[in-house]
Amino acid sequence: MVVQPVVLQPVVLQSVVLPVAATCTTVFTKITATCHGMNGATPESLMLSQTDQFHLRRAYDEAVTGFDEGGCPIGSLLARGDVVLASGRNRRVQQGDPIAHGEMDALRRAGRQTTYRDTTLYTSLSPCMMCSGTIVQFGIPRVVIGENQNFGGNEDFLRKRGVEVVIANDPGCIALMERFIREKPELWAEDIAQEL
Ligand SMILES: [Zn+2]
Repeated sequence: MVVQPVVLQPVVLQSVVLPVAATCTTVFTKITATCHGMNGATPESLMLSQTDQFHLRRAYDEAVTGFDEGGCPIGSLLARGDVVLASGRNRRVQQGDPIAHGEMDALRRAGRQTTYRDTTLYTSLSPCMMCSGTIVQFGIPRVVIGENQNFGGNEDFLRKRGVEVVIANDPGCIALMERFIREKPELWAEDIAQEL
């Protein structure tokens, strides 16, 4: 499945336009091939460091994998700086597990952590209340969200509890969820516990 056209677009950082591939190559050559899509140069996206962009990119890739598996396309990643502790994706369908949201899956796969205070959680879609509560419970201080246009509402809950919330408004994340909601409204309603 091709969700996004593989077209390299510029990332604007402090008014300097750099080709994405060149930018990625300087830091993470392994991820260069998947750096398309993290673009848009919105004011929000300018807040993202290159590390943020790469990690969010990988969360998006997890979401695409989930889509291809027939599941809810929501991906997540837990990182300590440049170090990826684990990535995960919503596995409601794949595992028959309603609690396996993308964020929960990433946290589970990261295993036991002595502390979360130096970590950032990335998620392709704004976290639900279950995942937001877990973020607060675990003391995760920073969350980078791919988009909150298709689902959101818990950002203030997080901010009021001291969590830094960054919303990327990423076009790729938005388009993927729009397609999923359009094609599988029943599955989406099930995941967010709403009646159709
Ligand atoms: Zn959730």
